Amino acid sequence: MNIAFIAHDAKKKLMQNLCIAYRGILAKHGLYATGTTGRLIEEVTALNIHKYLAGPIGGEEQLGAMIEQNQIDLVIFFRDPFGARSNEPDINKVIRLCDIHNVPLATNIASAELLLKSLERGDLEWREMYR
Ligand code: PGA
Repeated sequence: MNIAFIAHDAKKKLMQNLCIAYRGILAKHGLYATGTTGRLIEEVTALNIHKYLAGPIGGEEQLGAMIEQNQIDLVIFFRDPFGARSNEPDINKVIRLCDIHNVPLATNIASAELLLKSLERGDLEWREMYR
């Protein structure tokens, strides 16, 4: 399965901690992330992550294109619920594309942990057929 990560600045530390905690599960999958998020996850986990451009300069669009092609099976997107973002349309597009293509999406740590545990149990294997 291919998992994608995006975290806004206020949530990057949380994303690093999530990836440290679930490193054993994540290591079995293809990992993708917007540029800075990906670099920070790599620094603390030594996982190999395919990094898009930084989010505000096109990384979210690159991820969106992969979702459109049904190449992403799970998205963990920690948005800053209090921050105003200049690239809001790209952010909304990622969420919209997940809804169009039935890609499981977590926007907070509680749902991210549930999805990663489900992934480990094999609950997302239907995605293979869907593809
Ligand atoms: P980044 O992108 O991981 O490159 O920082 C996410 C964002 O839009 O903040």
